[in-house]
Amino acid sequence: MRGDRTMSGERRRIPVAAPDLSGNEEAYVQDAVRSTWISSTGPYLARFEKAFAEMCDTKFAIPVANGTVALHLALLALDVKPGDEVLVPSLTYIATANAVRYVGAEPVFVDVDADTWCVSPEHLHSAITSKTKGIIAVHLYGHPADMDALRRIATAHGLWIVEDAAEAHCAHYKGRRVGGLGDVATFSFYGNKIIASGEGGALTLDDASLAERIRLLRGQGMDPARRYYFPIIGYNYRLTNVAAALLCAQLERAQQIISRRRAIFEGYAARLRGIPGIGFQPTAAWAEPSPWLYCITVDEGAFGVSRDRLSQRLDEEGIETRPFFVPIHTLPPYVESWSRRQRMLPQTEQLAASGLNLPTYAHMSEADLDRICATILSACR
Ligand SMILES: *Cc1c(COP(=O)(O)O)cnc(C)c1O
Repeated sequence: MRGDRTMSGERRRIPVAAPDLSGNEEAYVQDAVRSTWISSTGPYLARFEKAFAEMCDTKFAIPVANGTVALHLALLALDVKPGDEVLVPSLTYIATANAVRYVGAEPVFVDVDADTWCVSPEHLHSAITSKTKGIIAVHLYGHPADMDALRRIATAHGLWIVEDAAEAHCAHYKGRRVGGLGDVATFSFYGNKIIASGEGGALTLDDASLAERIRLLRGQGMDPARRYYFPIIGYNYRLTNVAAALLCAQLERAQQIISRRRAIFEGYAARLRGIPGIGFQPTAAWAEPSPWLYCITVDEGAFGVSRDRLSQRLDEEGIETRPFFVPIHTLPPYVESWSRRQRMLPQTEQLAASGLNLPTYAHMSEADLDRICATILSACR
């Protein structure tokens, strides 16, 4: 238990997430700084675009400032307008719904499936109206949404699909990589994501004219053929060459980072199996999920204490956890317009009330896993 204590004898805190920057990250950032290419042009950006498009098996990858603006740009490029409706899960990070509001449209929340925790194709049908323009399919906690089923519905109703793949770098759906399964996909490289540059994001897609429109919107709307001439209102949503340097180093080790995280997942599963009341994230037969944050659910009746009490116990032991997302339809900016629709999202609410993310990062040790799982076991009544 020695490595557990700091020099002053206190128990070392285990964060819920931490980036793994142990490869060429520092060297590439130093190189970017020395080259003085610190803004939004430079060799690391070009290299990242190529490497990330390859990873996602798409024609284009467009780096942007973060995952939220990636979603905003996707909706702008797809011409989503005030009055439009966009189908989204409520069990997701707030950015998914906020991006819909940024363009003046209304997010219409759809319940998730018990066997994927992603937006339910079955429930989607009844949420479609004449105002519905598209679907944001979130690959929640690394698990891909059922894209073929969503595509059938989208095609039948003339809808587009955006994949929100912020939590699912390198996940596979029926052997195909996420990022090229919808009309456009968005990624985040926030510090707690699988591939991280602190802040950062990207869009991936195959459609050349949509890609051109996204680049135009990202770069203040400046005419690519005429410098300092602005035919439209654009945005400054660019990524820096310094952040791209970090991403190039991350992509070199992507498979290594993912297999390390996968080993952490297996370590949790082996230790937590059989504890009464602890449930696990399901994996659909066609899915090869990507290991983001390890998920458990706590059935208070069987486990003996609530999810929140367990989280508190872990916190007292110096272990940080994170409750599942608060359903967006219950949050102040959304609750009022949602209550008028009088629709229930029971699966979403049940998962949100019982789910907990456990610490997951590449350099966690077996001793960390032992300590976390022993604390969980000791909390069980
Ligand atoms: C992290 C995340 C985002 C937003 O990404 P940022 O880079 O933090 O802006 C969007 N959607 C989902 C599902 C996320 O987890």
